[in-house]
Amino acid sequence: MSKKQVFQFLDVPRDMPRKVPLELRTEGDWNELYGRFGQAEAAHQAGRCLDCGNPYCEARCPVHNYIPNWLQLVEEGRILEAAALCHETNPLPEMCGRVCPQDRLCEGACTLNAGFGAVTIGAVEKYIVDTAFEQGWRPDLSKVVPTGRQVAIVGAGPAGLACADRLARAGIGATVFDRYEQIGGLLQFGIPSFKLDKAVIDTRREVLEEMGVRFRLGVEVGRDVALGTLLKDYDAVFLGLGAYRYTDGGLPGQDLRGVLPALPFLVQNGRIVTGREPHGRPIAGWESHIELPDLAGKRVVVLGGGDTGMDCVRSAVRLGAASVTCAYRRDEANMPGSAREVANAREEGVRFLFNRQPLAIQSQDGSHASGVRVVETRLGEPDDKGRRSPVPIPGSESVIEADVVIIAFGFSPRVPEWLASAGVQARENGRIIVGGGERLPYQTTHPRLFAGGDCVRGADLVVTAVQEGRDAARSIAHLLRSEADHPHSALDA
Ligand code: FAD
Ligand code: SF4
Repeated sequence: MSKKQVFQFLDVPRDMPRKVPLELRTEGDWNELYGRFGQAEAAHQAGRCLDCGNPYCEARCPVHNYIPNWLQLVEEGRILEAAALCHETNPLPEMCGRVCPQDRLCEGACTLNAGFGAVTIGAVEKYIVDTAFEQGWRPDLSKVVPTGRQVAIVGAGPAGLACADRLARAGIGATVFDRYEQIGGLLQFGIPSFKLDKAVIDTRREVLEEMGVRFRLGVEVGRDVALGTLLKDYDAVFLGLGAYRYTDGGLPGQDLRGVLPALPFLVQNGRIVTGREPHGRPIAGWESHIELPDLAGKRVVVLGGGDTGMDCVRSAVRLGAASVTCAYRRDEANMPGSAREVANAREEGVRFLFNRQPLAIQSQDGSHASGVRVVETRLGEPDDKGRRSPVPIPGSESVIEADVVIIAFGFSPRVPEWLASAGVQARENGRIIVGGGERLPYQTTHPRLFAGGDCVRGADLVVTAVQEGRDAARSIAHLLRSEADHPHSALDA
């Protein structure tokens, strides 16, 4: 690499694609916040990469993307080759480029953070794939030899879609079932359109269908089709069910009018903004159908500091709230949400109150929420996961006035009865047990059932669900290959 290229980062500062102007956002613009790089901007930003001999960005990326290699291809204008390389490791790169918390992953590990600003890896990833699709590029499956084997996938979220992509590339037929009429899981019915334009999911569906993936949508496994039927009709089943058990904070007053659970709020609002209905029965009966109050002119308080909380505060801004406050029980450094999303929320006028633990939701008239009683905290000793626990400071209670309170305390998985009765075991926290002992990676305690994504790791990230779906497909292919080689395998038991 020439000297000029190596030191490009000295002349070209880090830059992100242009954002929707602030005044439009606060007036209710739901378009994707970030635009897309033009060819020259993408090449300039990609050219800032130092091409470190030991790319920490790759190591920190959960799917281990070949980042410096595709940055180099972008710099050279070889977009279609870059798209092919992106897909070697990541079945859904255009989604990850948009929604990954890059500041905690690839970009957080970039050597240029030492005073120069990380390479804008996510924005370049989005540029590569969007551009390549527009130019008609599609994954090349011309050398794939069909195996005649068939796999059913339950859940069209990122884990299920990633698994389908890899199976198709291995010549294994993939049929994806989802209880909703649209694919994407939380990408479609959770993450707001200002982070991910829903047309991006439509394009991915077209691509997958062209690869031979079949979708059976509006079909709930365990109700409309039995697991036993799938086990009879398919050689293996992958479970990408997600995590929809709402964390109940047990706050006094949480049943008052004006108190909303986060996901129903986002789903309902997304339905209004995008016109897309999550037809199909809600899993736990709560996550899609609520009456959405008019937030215009209201004081909105969001409890929780994760990605869901950030989506709620920024949605409330777009819905015309008079004030939006996020209360979180730890400090800013310990917030689980992406720092970029926190910065965007601040820019949009959201007030953050850190080290505030909610105690109760109050009401002046006995029926409608009027405020949240909180206590200040300091950080104490690390818990069993290494996170420092918030310790209430006696005598520091106060009330945050509110007309609407949105509770965003997170989610955990739950194993449905139809899976448990098939012998699929889970931990106490509802996470499906996979791998370990004689089992293949992502193989459950039932030899023909594999699982990955939030139902295995608990509520996490799109990119980790993609990684698990991708790697589960490898295990499934391994199982089916070994059966073909040894027709009387013990795994048939
Ligand atoms: P899901 O996306 O939940 O998909 C599971 C699918 O399975 C669903 O479509 C469901 O309908 C289907 N299903 C379940 N049971 C059945 C059944 N019996 N029959 C048929 N279908 C069934 N992550 C990020 O990386 N960045 C973000 O910015 C981000 N923001 C988020 C914002 C919100 C509001 C939320 C809730 C999450 C966010 N996440 C984010 C997390 C991310 O969306 C999830 O980790 C990811 O979607 C998990 O993928 P999955 O495939 O495991 O499950
Ligand atoms: Fe970064 Fe996510 Fe892309 Fe990996 S998949 S390079 S972590 S944006």
